[in-house]
Amino acid sequence: MFNRRLFLIILIAVLSCICAYAATRCNKWVGSTEVYGKLCTDHGFGSKADNCAVCGKWVGSAKIYAKLCNDHAFGSKKDDCVVCGKWVGSSKVPAKLCSDCGFGSKADNCARMK
Ligand SMILES: [Zn+2]
Ligand SMILES: [Zn+2]
Ligand SMILES: [Zn+2]
Repeated sequence: MFNRRLFLIILIAVLSCICAYAATRCNKWVGSTEVYGKLCTDHGFGSKADNCAVCGKWVGSAKIYAKLCNDHAFGSKKDDCVVCGKWVGSSKVPAKLCSDCGFGSKADNCARMK
């Protein structure tokens, strides 16, 4: 009985950590900017290029490209990795969103992680 309760407490703690992590997306409305986020050579390597830039889930057939707000698309910032902020260099891998993170108007929210 005690172990079951402890397990639930740990489960809730872990889940709230995941939620807090997911909430660090910039999320600002991109407005009329048509700048798409990129991934660095780490985050865009191989099959990782098909992971959602926000939650890490496999995007599957969803072909939603992550957009950047005016702040994060400004100057050289548009060449920073959406996930880790590292300069992408010559990497031209576009950041994608899964069907959850890119659903409806969410696709027009900045996907850059803070
Ligand atoms: Zn996602
Ligand atoms: Zn932003
Ligand atoms: Zn990165």
